[in-house]
Amino acid sequence: MPRYRNGTQPVPFPTPVTQPFWDGTKQHKLLLQKCSACAHVFYYARTHCPACLAKEFEWVEASGRGTLYSYTVCRRAQSPDFAEDTPYILAAVTLEEGPRMSSLLVDADPENVPIGGPVRVVWDDDVSADLAMPYFTPA
Ligand SMILES: [Zn+2]
Repeated sequence: MPRYRNGTQPVPFPTPVTQPFWDGTKQHKLLLQKCSACAHVFYYARTHCPACLAKEFEWVEASGRGTLYSYTVCRRAQSPDFAEDTPYILAAVTLEEGPRMSSLLVDADPENVPIGGPVRVVWDDDVSADLAMPYFTPA
């Protein structure tokens, strides 16, 4: 599994809007926002519901399960910071709760990616002292 090489790769920069999500990652909780007005569950973190524009929501823990919606195999990294990780698989995962998120698919064969198959979240704790990175792996 690719691991962050702390200090040599860029790391996520939490904002006031995304901080609860990143705080959850440190506890290995994949947190999503759920609208208090219409119950729509959404990801990425926003200040309002993308379905009804309400500004009231709660953070709910996702199951960490989903299906692989799409992917691409990166054989040449866009940044030299990730060159030694190639080939790696960028995945679009449809979470069980509905939202779709992008991340890495790890512990999978780039030549035989199980598109449409079940995946589950795994955590990389080597990113920083303040957050972990959610990746996915075939389930
Ligand atoms: Zn809503």
